[in-house]
Amino acid sequence: MGKKKTNIFTPEDSELIESEYRLLRNNLYRCEKTGDVELIEKAFRIANEAHWDMRRNSGEPYIIHPINVARIVNQEIGLGAKSVAAALLHDVVEDTDWTLEDIDREFGPKIASVIDGLTKISGTYNKENSSLQAENFRKMLMTLSDDIRVILIKIADRLHNMRTLDSMPEHKKMKIAGETIYLYAPLAHRLGLFSIKTELEDLSFKYRHPRIYDELAKKIKTDEKKNIALINKFSLPIIEKLNENNINFDISGRFKSIYSIWKKMQSKNVPFEEVYDLLAVRIVFEPKPDESEKTQCWEIYSLITDIYTPKPDRLRDWISRTKPNGYEALHLTVMGPGGRWVEVQIRSRRMDDIAEHGFAAHWKYKGDALQQENELDKWLKHIRELLSNPLEDPMEFLDEFKMSLFSTEIMVFTPKGLLVTLPKGASALDFAYEIHTQIGNKAIGAKVNYKLCPLSVTLLSGDQVEIITSDVARPEKEWLESAHTAKAKGAIQDALKAEIKDRVQKGKEMLEKKLNELGMIPNSDIIRKLLETYEIHDKDELYSKIAIEIINLDEFRKVLKKTPENSLMKYWKLRIGGKKSEIKTKNDKSEQEKIDKSQPYLLRENIDNTGNSYVIAGCCNPIPGDEVTGYVAPDGSIIVHKPKCPVAIKLMSSEGNRIIPVRWTIHKIASFLARISLSGIDRIGLVAEITAIISNELSVNIRNINISVYDGIFEGTIELYIHHTKDINNLIMQLSNIKGIASVKRIEEFNE
Ligand code: MN
Repeated sequence: MGKKKTNIFTPEDSELIESEYRLLRNNLYRCEKTGDVELIEKAFRIANEAHWDMRRNSGEPYIIHPINVARIVNQEIGLGAKSVAAALLHDVVEDTDWTLEDIDREFGPKIASVIDGLTKISGTYNKENSSLQAENFRKMLMTLSDDIRVILIKIADRLHNMRTLDSMPEHKKMKIAGETIYLYAPLAHRLGLFSIKTELEDLSFKYRHPRIYDELAKKIKTDEKKNIALINKFSLPIIEKLNENNINFDISGRFKSIYSIWKKMQSKNVPFEEVYDLLAVRIVFEPKPDESEKTQCWEIYSLITDIYTPKPDRLRDWISRTKPNGYEALHLTVMGPGGRWVEVQIRSRRMDDIAEHGFAAHWKYKGDALQQENELDKWLKHIRELLSNPLEDPMEFLDEFKMSLFSTEIMVFTPKGLLVTLPKGASALDFAYEIHTQIGNKAIGAKVNYKLCPLSVTLLSGDQVEIITSDVARPEKEWLESAHTAKAKGAIQDALKAEIKDRVQKGKEMLEKKLNELGMIPNSDIIRKLLETYEIHDKDELYSKIAIEIINLDEFRKVLKKTPENSLMKYWKLRIGGKKSEIKTKNDKSEQEKIDKSQPYLLRENIDNTGNSYVIAGCCNPIPGDEVTGYVAPDGSIIVHKPKCPVAIKLMSSEGNRIIPVRWTIHKIASFLARISLSGIDRIGLVAEITAIISNELSVNIRNINISVYDGIFEGTIELYIHHTKDINNLIMQLSNIKGIASVKRIEEFNE
């Protein structure tokens, strides 16, 4: 802290800091213990001083960020004074000359260890061939085993950064938004922070697809008034009925988030209107003390279904069995006025608190809701297991972790009726390793519900599983494909390694014995000769091949007498091979340096097929006019994806530094394949009309038309070559004007 601290803030700056801090200080939640407020005051004072000369990208004093992270931590996640202090101090060690020892001295070891966790996360990682971000994320999760608060504060940090993303440079926005949708939103979801998850998704979507976001936001605004009126009309009879029955409750209308609307439009391929059709209301009741909350939920259910008819297949009961992320509620869908479906969510005050505040609220209710805590505890245990057996490739780890965020559990039984919990998608092999490593290693098959099945069979909840073992069985490499749990994968890898070691030892002994018979002593010359003869690269491989008799020891007498064939040839082979790879690495480096993100890379038309420097990604097939983003492959070529393509989202979050902005130039000659689907009511002359319109469009060429008619309804797909999305939009407009056509749309496919 040797720097001289002159006050560089303007009076406006100081006023801003003061008012932001007051918002935190005057609305503290659950900080009533003695010393709580003093602790927060002290953390603020020290953080404010430490960041004295820093500003954010937006130009604001830096301290505004930690203050807001602290507000989220306290008011939106519900954590107490220590976490608020840690949030205020979260960037101090990383960005200023304060050290962990300073924090420890001033605030004690607990807060220091949380800050340590938060600092480690952004520490850089220098192993060249692995993804920096994936590794950072793994580090962040490592701290999970120390203190869950680290993750919660990190999520708050990310939420505030997303809320203020506007001031970031364009390419950073994409990276941060990609990472947010790929990891932070699912993580928030898994920890039960439902409203934060929704906000992260919407914000990420807003930056990844600004145009679609604006369009949907506008449409929602238009419909809002009408829907509010509808919800009011729907709620009135319910309010009366619940009041009659002396139930103390709040009722409110729920609107779908922009991101969830868009996701549904994409996955079901339906228009906005159809998705937005579903209205929802939420009833939060104060439970009466003499009756269980479960009973009271069903009571309300019964009162509502006295008024409105329920849709039986839409009943969702998360009261009898809590969702893995701790969510509890009863959801039903009923036919509302005007024939519209309305979803009704019924929750007690406690259930609502957990749904909104997630993990932190679980602690609060620890006494009366032990079973939900267990679900989360189990997940944390699984993550810790994953971390204690880290897979070598950070990307693989990332995938596995992401799976764990979504996987719900299945419950299966041993032959004796013992319950075993496994992640969804687990195989009989996973089950075997879950029971015992030795049962896994000796497994040859399984009986699932008394039926013989291969070990790779996917188990379902309720299955009874018996593993058949054999003493001669041993794990094989292929098993890794059937193993899904970290436990099974780790055990198989260990067994394979041990087996290789055994084999090498055995082969070595066999070779020594054979050489003795031939009257030779094993030396490096002999070994080298053998390696050359069999074109093997290392000794272990040689021993291993001897052990499993791929190399026949009986040939040795002959082999060892012969001079190695054409050693000059080999020399050349090596030279050529070596030279090639040398050039490649050189290229790699210069490409890496060349990545320039300040200007969008222009995707120019490549008329004579030379110097083509970009590739259209096969997974999402963007067309000029589509929103696009570029990924610089390790060989320097630029791969163009749609930003909503799952492959692109994954790249953004794992190799964000290779994502560059790209822009189309005008394409006049090159054509791109596009597909449209159309449906409607069949009539004579319809197909002729469709083809006439397409052939009159000069800028498109038909590749294929496929139309089928069934019961008077026709459905078809048309494949076309076009130059720009304008062409297809034009065509869709003209086609939709044909009498009888009910829907025309472009088919967008994402292949992973
Ligand atoms: Mn921060």
